[in-house]
Amino acid sequence: MSETRTAIVTGAARGIGAATARKLAENGLAVAVLDLEESAGAPVVADIEAAGGRALAVGVDVSDEASVDAAVQRVADELGAPTVLVNNAGITRDNLLFKMTVTDWDAVMGVHLRGSFLMSRAAQKYMTEAKWGRIVNLSSTSALGNRGQANYSAAKAGLQGFTKTLAIELGRFGVTVNAIAPGFIETEMTRATAERLGISFEQFADGLAKEIPVGRVGQPADIAETVAFLVGDGAGFISGQVLYVAGGPTD
Ligand code: NAP
Repeated sequence: MSETRTAIVTGAARGIGAATARKLAENGLAVAVLDLEESAGAPVVADIEAAGGRALAVGVDVSDEASVDAAVQRVADELGAPTVLVNNAGITRDNLLFKMTVTDWDAVMGVHLRGSFLMSRAAQKYMTEAKWGRIVNLSSTSALGNRGQANYSAAKAGLQGFTKTLAIELGRFGVTVNAIAPGFIETEMTRATAERLGISFEQFADGLAKEIPVGRVGQPADIAETVAFLVGDGAGFISGQVLYVAGGPTD
């Protein structure tokens, strides 16, 4: 590979997305740090630049078609044609089915499913033109079912079907498409879950760690390392797969 590749990571202002953006930059990719607010991505961009890398913060709502198309165009113009896409942006709106509102159902579907669709559709043209590309979608162990997450678990299971279909359609263009399904990872998202359950994060994480074979909860770096592997040249024969990264088997 002679030219610098450009990656887009959505929801990259914090958590798994921020760790992934930093890792890909460390590996020599130019990285577009996409999040709802451009300003939220600025600290990640500053870190990458301070370490000698190239990065660009771009504000986007992944569930909005015009916003996605404008953001991807801006990345192509200002950073380079994106041939790596990590669909990581995510939200939770947990509730038991009988209390789940249509708004909360639609919001979760909008960010995870519609967002990954819009981002992938906008980015694939650069990948097919380059005859090389990598798409990684963030699924979850919740895809297997999780109390209080009918919306989230349906979206994360949907992403697995989406991943397999894109792998079939885009393979002939040198584009691989895979999903990573993390277990419990320590981020703002899981901190919010602990808060909602009314327990401290430490109590929550310690309890869960006892059930995880490797004896600890996951960190954003665990997922960033997995993304880095899947978007590398060495992973070119892996496509349409769902890799559970959960410190043990999941079913
Ligand atoms: P996080 O800390 O909540 O970060 C998610 C990021 O996505 C936030 O910066 C958020 O921005 C951004 N975002 C939300 N809606 C967006 C939209 N419409 N457009 C653009 N950006 C948007 O989450 P995380 O824990 O790092 O999770 C990252 C991904 O991994 C998610 O897809 C999540 O479902 C998945 N995952 C996480 C875990 C876990 O245990 N943490 C486990 C399995 C899967 P704002 O801050 O402005 O809302």
